[in-house]
Amino acid sequence: MPGQSCILPYAGQSKGSEHTFWGQGRPLALGPWESGHARQTSAIDSLPASQPAIGPAANAAPGDGVGSGLASPAEGLSLAHQAALAAWAHQCSTCQRCPLAQGRQQVVLSRGNPLARLMLIGEAPGAQEDELGQPFVGRSGQLLDQLLAAAGLDSNQDVYICNVVKCRPPGNRKPTALELAACRPWLQQQIALVQPQVLVLVGATALQAVLGLKGPISQLRGQWQSFGGCACMPIFHPAYLLRNGSIQPGRPRDLTRADLVAVREHLLASS
Ligand code: SF4
Repeated sequence: MPGQSCILPYAGQSKGSEHTFWGQGRPLALGPWESGHARQTSAIDSLPASQPAIGPAANAAPGDGVGSGLASPAEGLSLAHQAALAAWAHQCSTCQRCPLAQGRQQVVLSRGNPLARLMLIGEAPGAQEDELGQPFVGRSGQLLDQLLAAAGLDSNQDVYICNVVKCRPPGNRKPTALELAACRPWLQQQIALVQPQVLVLVGATALQAVLGLKGPISQLRGQWQSFGGCACMPIFHPAYLLRNGSIQPGRPRDLTRADLVAVREHLLASS
């Protein structure tokens, strides 16, 4: 699937859609989440000696210059794409679909580059994310950024980061099935707007929410999956890595770095 962006099952459908956004020059019909994804696997590889920039998103206009080295990612967005993202963000930020709306300070949408070819999806906002309005900005986020950097990925330019659930669950508990289902259309629309080529699913909750795969993340991480034509890489959640701090070869932190290197090499191969 080199060079291919996520083609979600609902893209282009009108049946059951709630809204239509215009992104990347074509309408994105937004409908219910669907399952039944093809799956494939491949091996992880080692850190490359040199780390060239992964280049612009496939959906960027010629000359956008998006990717490593971009001073302001938003500059590469077309007006139509900016408008579509803004409309989505406005609707999502006022959502009351599930009980998490009652306890949140704000809806946590994303950080990073909306033109990135890589989308990283975590579980849900924590206390700091809820306070600051951005995903992965606490200790877990700092570790995540370090791991991305170690793999040659710039968290501001090469990655778009979000969560499967946009509001903080109380006490940082896992989102319930009801909350995941209620928030799923927002993620679905987010993927359709960003059109990444690769999804990194951070932790077991994100893996189950997106792919429906249940099982120990220790066994599922590092195994390529597919979703709507988009390559998916499950990785350990950085909160787990904070509790397992060894940097020895073969330990979770080293495995996560290797998984992210495999992601980067996939992006390079599909440039
Ligand atoms: S978690 Fe999602 S569905 Fe629930 S209120 Fe927040 S944005 Fe809406």
